[in-house]
Amino acid sequence: MRKRNRKDAETTGISKERAFDISAWTPKTDIGRKIKAGEITNIDMILDAGKRIMEPEIVDALLKGLQVDLLEIGQSKGKFGGGKRTIWKTTQKKSKEGNKPSFTAMAVVGNKDGYLGIGMGKSKETMPAREKATKQAKLNIIKIKRGCGSWQCNCREPHSLPFAVSGKNGSSQLRIMPAPKGTGLCMAGEARKMLALAGVKDVYSRTKGQTVTRVNLLIACFKALKELSKVKVMPEYVAKAGIVSGRKENKEVTQ
Ligand SMILES: [Zn+2]
Repeated sequence: MRKRNRKDAETTGISKERAFDISAWTPKTDIGRKIKAGEITNIDMILDAGKRIMEPEIVDALLKGLQVDLLEIGQSKGKFGGGKRTIWKTTQKKSKEGNKPSFTAMAVVGNKDGYLGIGMGKSKETMPAREKATKQAKLNIIKIKRGCGSWQCNCREPHSLPFAVSGKNGSSQLRIMPAPKGTGLCMAGEARKMLALAGVKDVYSRTKGQTVTRVNLLIACFKALKELSKVKVMPEYVAKAGIVSGRKENKEVTQ
């Protein structure tokens, strides 16, 4: 008989980040010091300059209301075609001493308003893996472009994506497309969590290739969202689709 209590505590999904105490933070990098000194007040100042974030605290300090979600990438052992999906992907390494298990977690962080990051963490124990993944997700934070690219809707509000994007990782391919208001997130459950944390409400999606490997599909989803910023958009279209880059108040003018 397995004990369930401890496991339940570890597998709960979404969690709000504790309020960040900037006075207790000793920054290690230049950007960090500038934030503490009040010179950098907006995360866009870092992301737009293409600088890399080296400390997770930078994201804590600049993005309020950050939420963390753990994606279910693993499966517990069980009869009848596998057990319940869990947030831990377990792997075993054979060695002289026997099988050494290790755990991988995948975290997604977002503020539900245009900023999103994913990260993975691996460790011999569950909690450090989760912490590593969360940290990594913060370092990988990106700005998402939102808008209404649905010809059926045309509302100019940032409830969906401004245009369709695709991402590929390994053999998994995912295409995310704008959808009219009220559609919801039409996609695989775990990728849905990712878009929800970015603040996207309505999309259609299509997958291609191997989709059983959930990790690949999720990375493909993140890559697709990254594409949003790479595509050059015609100025007329920016207004037509009501494109915002990052936060809702960041109305795009031209790019
Ligand atoms: Zn719309």
